[in-house]
Amino acid sequence: MKKCPICEGTVKKVKTKAEIEGVTLAEGLDVEKCSKCGEEFYTLEQMSFLRKKAQEKGVWGSGLRLRRKITRSGKRLALYLPTDIERNLKLKKGEAVDIWTEGRRIIIEPVS
Ligand SMILES: [Zn+2]
Repeated sequence: MKKCPICEGTVKKVKTKAEIEGVTLAEGLDVEKCSKCGEEFYTLEQMSFLRKKAQEKGVWGSGLRLRRKITRSGKRLALYLPTDIERNLKLKKGEAVDIWTEGRRIIIEPVS
């Protein structure tokens, strides 16, 4: 069985929906998803397909909206950042971020 590279949870094939700012790009997309941390793994082909769809619909640049589940790490709640966001923002381990809320939204902004 395949293991999640982030949390070592079990990775299963699921159907997912990708959207940006409420605009659906694709439904019933076959992805591998970790049943523990909720990370979804897109292939490079799927990423370029979604990028093309987003460009067609004029929503590229707004950022892919990916659904995540909050997990627990020890006593605290944890959230894994999608690899797409990691790549696009060139985030690194140990990098500082500011985090605050606006109503029910949680905003995370890299400091540098
Ligand atoms: Zn995982």
